[in-house]
Amino acid sequence: MPEFDQFLSKKVADRYLKREVLGEGTYGVVYKAIDTKSGQTVAIKKIRLGKHSDGVNFTALREIKILKELKDPNIIELIDAFPHKGNLHLVFEFMESDLEAVIRDRNIVLSPADVKSYLQMTLKGLAYCHKKWVLHRDMKPNNLLIGADGQLKLADFGLARLFGSPDRKFTHQVFARWYRAPELLFGTKQYGAGVDVWAAACIFAELLLRRPLLQGSSDIDQLGKIFATFGTPKPSQWPDMIYLPDYVEYQYVSAPPLRSLFPMASDDALDLLSKMFTYDPKSRITVQQALEHRYFSSIPAPTKPSSLPRPARKGESLNSKPSDFNPHEGPVVLSPPRKSRRVTVQRDGLEGNVHYTEKVDDHFYDARQVAGENTGRSENVPMSVDFSIFGSKPPPRPTLNSADRSHLKRKLDLEFIQPERE
Ligand code: AMP
Repeated sequence: MPEFDQFLSKKVADRYLKREVLGEGTYGVVYKAIDTKSGQTVAIKKIRLGKHSDGVNFTALREIKILKELKDPNIIELIDAFPHKGNLHLVFEFMESDLEAVIRDRNIVLSPADVKSYLQMTLKGLAYCHKKWVLHRDMKPNNLLIGADGQLKLADFGLARLFGSPDRKFTHQVFARWYRAPELLFGTKQYGAGVDVWAAACIFAELLLRRPLLQGSSDIDQLGKIFATFGTPKPSQWPDMIYLPDYVEYQYVSAPPLRSLFPMASDDALDLLSKMFTYDPKSRITVQQALEHRYFSSIPAPTKPSSLPRPARKGESLNSKPSDFNPHEGPVVLSPPRKSRRVTVQRDGLEGNVHYTEKVDDHFYDARQVAGENTGRSENVPMSVDFSIFGSKPPPRPTLNSADRSHLKRKLDLEFIQPERE
């Protein structure tokens, strides 16, 4: 970096007084800091500027590019971005808590009006993204941050993508598995805003139940959990399903009444939930339609954000998932119609009806991988970050599961010699 730039970046860095670590994401540590110029408390995400091939830089670039376009009360504000000592620093408004901490705090009682308010803010942030042709692709409760004023904001746009062109191909390895839409689990590469709606439905269900609804232990098991909950989809319900790249046929099971899973929910809540959990993404309700659903206009009115119950301290119980969920028996995978993958049922597995594949398909690794976005250099980034250092190659995102690292590495080596779109 030229000397003057180094001087500038040090000057910017000196402006922020680093405090404690707030958390650690896939790409770096997040610190609490004080902006000595404004006195404002901020959160600084420090991202290592590694070699171009490790994907880190592109993730940061994507997050900056997307966030600087998105200005909305329900989207996290990127205040600043600057390089310093080999790291890229993203400065965000500080958020006290997140929705996962709220859901898991047993001292908090969530009334129907509170649930409505949290869901409404989630959908408003998402509607704004979709209006700007941005898919979030990583919607889950701990990416929904909550400010001191109770406002919920979508955060972690590292996986977000621009969408719009109908034949555009994306990676399906997005979202934490429990929030992944069935079309993604069946390997679709062409998907739209419906994937965020499905994830929002999972969050809605989690607000009602105070635990995740669909806790699959593998992609196949995830589909099994989905089908056990909502019934195995019939081709008439979702005509395109059988043409999806990883489609496998599941034994038919019928759906238990939704009411039996959510005994306390209102009829309006259940109606909206079922529309958000529609199998065929073409028939799934849009975020805007969901916001216009009568659930939001019927009583009780959503709680004012400033009156919402929140956990006492940030990060109290962010690191583990509740394990008290007794998963439904999943339907049996019958046969993969066009693939040689052999699928068997492990009868003595810890979770009962656990499915596994003997020949593991390339798609069945547990990794969040970034699809390439290559829309050129951005003109009005908050700070003088020189994007030319990022190059233009779409990067992989590192795997979350260390056991899958070498598998992912092999896959990524292949992807680098492929043309621009995955
Ligand atoms: P991320 O890399 O965005 O997943 O962030 C990692 C962790 O840092 C999150 O789980 C939060 O606990 C924390 N964090 C991220 N952004 C903020 C923020 N703006 N304010 C407070 N904490 C944050």
